[in-house]
Amino acid sequence: MKTVKTTQVRPTATVEDYLETIHRLQRDGKKVIATRLAELLNVSLPTATLTLKRMARDGWIIFDRHKQILLTPAGETAAHSVIRRHMLTEWLLVQTLNVPWSEAHSEAHQIEHTLSDNVEKRLNDNLNRPSTCPHGNPLPDHEELTSHWLPLTKAPHSTTVTIRRIHETIEDSRETLKYLEQNGLLPGAKIEILESLAFNQTISLRTEKGILSLGWALAENIFVESDTSG
Ligand SMILES: [Zn+2]
Ligand SMILES: [Zn+2]
Repeated sequence: MKTVKTTQVRPTATVEDYLETIHRLQRDGKKVIATRLAELLNVSLPTATLTLKRMARDGWIIFDRHKQILLTPAGETAAHSVIRRHMLTEWLLVQTLNVPWSEAHSEAHQIEHTLSDNVEKRLNDNLNRPSTCPHGNPLPDHEELTSHWLPLTKAPHSTTVTIRRIHETIEDSRETLKYLEQNGLLPGAKIEILESLAFNQTISLRTEKGILSLGWALAENIFVESDTSG
């Protein structure tokens, strides 16, 4: 007999961090397994395994036959809630408090867990219900908007494109965000892809600040939209 608890209370901050990451991997069609989560959350595998067991016990996740992790409906709802709080806090920090774009993510990460549902609703209204975070990542239920943006590695050359999104994976690296900020590679910036060198795994761009070269690992996490539609 299955006894799945339907938890009404908000999960702990630790569990919320797991839920956010599981949701993101699931959204991107990636395999969600304990080793990957341990890596992304910067904890040991035994620690991750223990937390995941507790999360399964409390009804946030289930394990399938292949030990892959799936969110339960309660887990999905809780993940959406913390991701919304995170992204709205990022906007609050950037727009109202003038926190640098490159620092908003790590600052929001500290605050997001303590925001009440009431404040979340007020923030959302005050910010005119944004569809993405300041990095261009979609709020839950707005994934459709970002789905046609192409990673730099697959975008057309010799034409102007607009940067729309810096993937969440990059948000965790403050140095990379700083580099992007200093070089004007932010959502809304217009750039041109000059060439992509497979043997070197680099891509060179013309930006408003000049010509620069990026490695593919970074370039595939920067999404752009073509200015010429069709
Ligand atoms: Zn963030
Ligand atoms: Zn963000």
